[in-house]
Amino acid sequence: MLTPRAAATAAALPATQLPAYLYDLAALDEHLRAIRSALPAPVELYYAAKANPDPQLLRALAPHLTGLEVSSGGELAHARATVPALPLAFGGPGKTEEELRSALRPAVARFHVESRTELHLLSQLATTPLDILLRVNLPVPGTGDAALTMGGRPTPFGLDPDAATACLPLLRGGPLRLRGIHAHLASGLDAPAQLAVSAQVLHWTGQFAARHALHLTEVNLGGGMAVDYSDPHTRFDWPAYGKGLAQLARAHPSFTLRLEPGRSLTAYCGWYVTEVLDVKHSHGEAFAVLRGGTHHLRTPAARGHDQPFTVLPVDNWPHPWVRPAAMAEPVTLTGQLCTPRDTLARRVPVASLRAGDRVAFAMAGAYAWNISHHGFLMHPAPAFHHL
Ligand SMILES: *Cc1c(COP(=O)(O)O)cnc(C)c1O
Repeated sequence: MLTPRAAATAAALPATQLPAYLYDLAALDEHLRAIRSALPAPVELYYAAKANPDPQLLRALAPHLTGLEVSSGGELAHARATVPALPLAFGGPGKTEEELRSALRPAVARFHVESRTELHLLSQLATTPLDILLRVNLPVPGTGDAALTMGGRPTPFGLDPDAATACLPLLRGGPLRLRGIHAHLASGLDAPAQLAVSAQVLHWTGQFAARHALHLTEVNLGGGMAVDYSDPHTRFDWPAYGKGLAQLARAHPSFTLRLEPGRSLTAYCGWYVTEVLDVKHSHGEAFAVLRGGTHHLRTPAARGHDQPFTVLPVDNWPHPWVRPAAMAEPVTLTGQLCTPRDTLARRVPVASLRAGDRVAFAMAGAYAWNISHHGFLMHPAPAFHHL
């Protein structure tokens, strides 16, 4: 799971330059090529910037994307500065008036409207026609097992079907042009489940358009394609999803289909590499204390999983005392923070893990550094290397 380039860099960096994030941009490029070629050509691919807005990552992704989904004024300004040629969609709940104003100059390609209040605000601020999608919260069976379910249950996201209907009079004759529907309903679905949800969203949108005599031309099917942290070798089945999408596109020829994944695009291209500072045994269990921790890589703490890792043995041991080690036993990998929550992986069997060895945590390219609580305990930030 560690690419040769990442492995070489992880071994070559001086210990004083750890922890470090490694992003393999060539691997990212290859992954995006595979996804793009699995999707029918008319399907549009946006990237949800919140997964990882690293500038070089965004530039590497850009050639494969139709556009970028941003969810704050900060992401909006960052996207404009970093990938100025990419069309932007502005989503997310709680957009402020200042954020909306900045999204109007120049106008983003699409506004994803999350509520009636936002619709009022945007209508008031608009001076030229604006293209919008209504984000809906549809009750779709089949999302119940997903890691994060946003659809069909009470959430702060989007509009219930009735509320979407009630918004339609506000759109008549105003500056806002309703282009279609946005639905990001679940996260962590495999390809068959994702297809089933996509089919329901398209079916609902077709009926909604017919019932209200609306000329809708776009459906944003959201993101949420599964990333399995317990098995870094499996990937979301893009070929199967693409095949199913081609069928759905034929069944709904009036709609342009758009996807908006985050995690499944960038998770695999990143590693968090660090060294083992100490190995100790506590009441019969082995702990490896690492330089760094969840203030750099919050993903396992946020999701409650074991972050997959590779041990990179370092044979040199410069000290006169016995090298602390865990041998052929389960070990818990923790960081430098003074809290038991600073745990990156729990009781994972290892053949050998010694102080001074290095550890490369995989799948650290999405919702990793940028969701972490960097300020806690004032440790230095990691370096970032783009390979
Ligand atoms: C977070 C988010 C996405 C991306 O979700 P992933 O699980 O990273 O694919 C897409 N759309 C919206 C509206 C989001 O909030």
